[in-house]
Amino acid sequence: MKIPKLKLYTKILVGLILGVVVGILLGPKAAVIKPIGTAFIRLITLIVVPLVFASLLVGTASLGDIRKLGRMGMKTITYYLTTTALAITIGLLLANIIRPGSRLPDEVKTNLLQNYGGVALEKIQQAEETPGVIDVLLDIIPTNPVNSLNTANMLQIIFFAVLLGIALTMIPSHRARSVLAFFEGINDAMIQIVHIVMKLAPYGVFALIAAIVGEFGAGILLTLARYSIVVIIGLILHTCLTYPAAVGLLAKMNPLTFFRGIRPAQLIAFSTSSSSATLPVTMECSIENLNVPNDVASFVLPLGATINMDGTALYQGVAAVFISEVYGMHLTLGNQLMIVLTATLASIGAAGVPGVGMITLALVLKTIGVPLEGIALILGVDRILDMCRTVTNISGDSSAAVIVAATEGELGTSRSFDYG
Ligand code: ASP
Repeated sequence: MKIPKLKLYTKILVGLILGVVVGILLGPKAAVIKPIGTAFIRLITLIVVPLVFASLLVGTASLGDIRKLGRMGMKTITYYLTTTALAITIGLLLANIIRPGSRLPDEVKTNLLQNYGGVALEKIQQAEETPGVIDVLLDIIPTNPVNSLNTANMLQIIFFAVLLGIALTMIPSHRARSVLAFFEGINDAMIQIVHIVMKLAPYGVFALIAAIVGEFGAGILLTLARYSIVVIIGLILHTCLTYPAAVGLLAKMNPLTFFRGIRPAQLIAFSTSSSSATLPVTMECSIENLNVPNDVASFVLPLGATINMDGTALYQGVAAVFISEVYGMHLTLGNQLMIVLTATLASIGAAGVPGVGMITLALVLKTIGVPLEGIALILGVDRILDMCRTVTNISGDSSAAVIVAATEGELGTSRSFDYG
């Protein structure tokens, strides 16, 4: 009998489930297989800089129209800011209704503050080093683009690639041709590397999940059950209502097609907790499965991996209410509006890497005067919630790519990204 070939998505899912089982069985010992997962993360991360640079450069040069770029930029940023503000509002509403912090026993509070106080302090220090809004904006302009590539500074890379792409359309075509051909080659090769690396995804996901489940276990989730549940419900609501509604209404795309298309990227986001590391897969899924053209995907998605973090913003709303409740503080409507504003802005400057939401949370808490050491209360569950919010983050990015492509009249016909 011929064994049917499993699809990539199914294989990754099997890896994930086996990872949970092995993590539970082995406990902290599961850390021995973590290097396999780390190798996988490194392999996909290695593609990010050359892929984003080459595809955005080629994409911009092929647009041949600077106005179109400006229009796409406006649409993308408006959509990102609107959905982020909506996400925090959902988080705040749920937290105000369910009030997750109202029943946390005192001894649990003391224990958590003791156990995680040190790490919380590190996060607070990191947050203090975060520059202000003007500096963040100025920092988008690189003074040395080679350095930007070197340090994987995504906004600077985007800026330089777009500028270079535009300049290439303005010089004589016989001079631009060889540069473009070179980067087209790099782009194709990077996509090929994504295909190769994704064959390893089920093993990478297995190892990552086993190590995380082994390290954290389910116990801490129970301690902070109400808080974790509120965050997870919020993320599910935002992911399963806001995005389908947006792609359905604005792009006339069947939401099921949308979700089916981005499934592999969602699983990788869940396992790696990093929208930046997931970026090559998000781009592939959007281009191959959702028929977003390369120029749109290579512009909207890298931008999203850096500036659009709906899941992170939503969780910050819940966390702020939770922490202030535990400290017996009441957040006024003004405070809550301030959370919407700061969490939206904070998500712009932060790169999509694991745990960054925790650092920007310190900024949010600071603006509304909630004790920063309260972060220690939620650190224990942060990794697990980070996995969930990263799924929302990349789903939001993908929905933007679909919507921008559709409103530009460029959503094509289906190919398929499944390496079987
Ligand atoms: N890990 C998230 C991401 O990469 C950011 C965060 O919420 O910490 O999208």
